[in-house]
Amino acid sequence: MTDFAATKAMFDLPQGITYLDGNSLGPLPRKAAARVAQAVSAEWGQMLIGGWNRAGWMDLPRRLGDRIAALIGAQAGHVVLGDTLSIKVYQALASALDMRPTRRVILSDTGNFPSDLYMAAGLCRTLGDGYVLNTVAPEDVAGAIDDRVAVLMLTEVDYRTGRRHDMAALTRAAHDAGALVIWDLAHSAGAFAVDLAGCGADFAVGCTYKYLNSGPGGPAFIYVAPRHADVARPALSGWLGHEAPFAFDLDYRAGAGIDRMRVGTPPVLQLAALEAALDVWDGVDLHDLRSASQALMDQYIAGVEAVCPDLILATPRAHDARGSQVSFRHPQAYAIMQAMIARGVVGDFRAPDVIRCGFTPLFIDAGDVARAVAVIGDIMQNRLWDNPAYHTRAKVT
Ligand SMILES: *Cc1c(COP(=O)(O)O)cnc(C)c1O
Repeated sequence: MTDFAATKAMFDLPQGITYLDGNSLGPLPRKAAARVAQAVSAEWGQMLIGGWNRAGWMDLPRRLGDRIAALIGAQAGHVVLGDTLSIKVYQALASALDMRPTRRVILSDTGNFPSDLYMAAGLCRTLGDGYVLNTVAPEDVAGAIDDRVAVLMLTEVDYRTGRRHDMAALTRAAHDAGALVIWDLAHSAGAFAVDLAGCGADFAVGCTYKYLNSGPGGPAFIYVAPRHADVARPALSGWLGHEAPFAFDLDYRAGAGIDRMRVGTPPVLQLAALEAALDVWDGVDLHDLRSASQALMDQYIAGVEAVCPDLILATPRAHDARGSQVSFRHPQAYAIMQAMIARGVVGDFRAPDVIRCGFTPLFIDAGDVARAVAVIGDIMQNRLWDNPAYHTRAKVT
């Protein structure tokens, strides 16, 4: 059994805070602070440019990619880190479209994160030539897959509601129709076990600053299935994806396998933070993680529904149909979340009316959930949200 009291002790959580927002920005692993300090002083400070070789900076995107591969069911050697998730979505999409040259449709759903859809729409505009992004309701995706679809691009877990797609079934349906599939694992990687290889996914992308705790601005990852790794043509053909970056040739030749999905200089300090953050996973069994997170979500839903009849559950109750977050709807969701934060229970508000909380047993336990429920109950029963201070919107919600 995984020792979740031990994993909780690995995080530097502020006193008095119940942090239910690791699904937006994971908290600080204690070792990450020390590791970043070392990368700054001992590596950058003392090795200067020699750090690229001596401290192994250049290999970090692949080395840490292998550790993430183990968490998402990917084959070692087929995941690489770099850039932001939006960029990785664009890269995966451009390569996938290129592999289905006679088709023009990108199919996605209206529950997808807007940036993924914006990147797809922008790519269609750049390509011209009849490329279109078609979005349907999440429950209508399977029925909308036909032989015009080049790429099915989905985020497995809906950022707003927590609804989870059936990755295996949708991948099979898309392949049966001759389409390729890109899975965005932003709310999956580190939340539960993913089986990319088992599902036969073509591409996958995800971020590391949510459930993987790499810190604000941590790099994203991309996976390309081994059967496509030397076929996929990179649209963002930067020098570090070149077969021989230090030959400084004038012609671009894509590097071998996943290396071609690298673009430019890797974010070394963020990767150092990620490296330490990944150590938290060493003693974690992903099946234990999933069952503990389901128990926390069940406890939270039952507790909130018992004391707050006005909050409407937006997340599926069925375990298989949800990720690792729970959302409730209320017209005053923004003010309610501000009142919660003022009482030390940190989650987030998602427009227009969602109160979203993430539950990871890595640093949340049943006592934290009980405290959150008590605070929300007090806020709702005593209308504590009805205070002008809680209605002013900050830039980042
Ligand atoms: C968090 C998230 C993003 C954010 O993209 P960045 O480029 O890292 O800012 C994109 N897509 C999904 C599905 C997300 O959940």
